[in-house]
Amino acid sequence: MTKNYLPKELMRLVESFSKLPGIGQATASRLALYLMRKPPDLSLEIAKSLIEARKKVKSCPNCNNFMFDNDCSCSDSSRQSDILCIVENTVDVISVENSGEYNGQYHVLQGLLSISQGINPKDLKINQLINRIKNSEFKEIILATDPTSDGEFTAQYIHEKIKPYCLLITRIAIGVPIGSEVNYIDKNTLAKSIVDRRKIG
Ligand SMILES: [Zn+2]
Repeated sequence: MTKNYLPKELMRLVESFSKLPGIGQATASRLALYLMRKPPDLSLEIAKSLIEARKKVKSCPNCNNFMFDNDCSCSDSSRQSDILCIVENTVDVISVENSGEYNGQYHVLQGLLSISQGINPKDLKINQLINRIKNSEFKEIILATDPTSDGEFTAQYIHEKIKPYCLLITRIAIGVPIGSEVNYIDKNTLAKSIVDRRKIG
């Protein structure tokens, strides 16, 4: 029987990397071999941050964003508490923050509803969002999901569900090519799409 040409521990590392999104077999091999060639400090640093982050970073039960050590920015009293911006993921929070046009609350869906990919309201904890809205007094709720078909579908679905609990529901102005993703829109375009948001329904 022929023995594998490479140590199985190294092959296991390649396999682990290849489970990450956007990383194929070739990139996974490159990453694993890169780490093996570098001094061990880098591998230890990555392993340590990963273990630490997995241990202490959790989903906030209120806004569904990531929080460290049970301390979430949604309880930051310097932010406006009566306006809510619903986004697909944490990268979008960073984009909206960078636009400099918003200082309210966020709700992070951690995904979009998708019929083709079988992602349903339960997967996105939509009930948690509805309960949050029911128990808060938001003067305005901004639906800031991408202008893609899944983003539009998600915005429409949420709009229907939250309509009874908020008088002003707005959608970011889609002054950008249809199909763009919120985090690919440049800072000025996103800032403008927030400023130019319009009432729906
Ligand atoms: Zn939170």
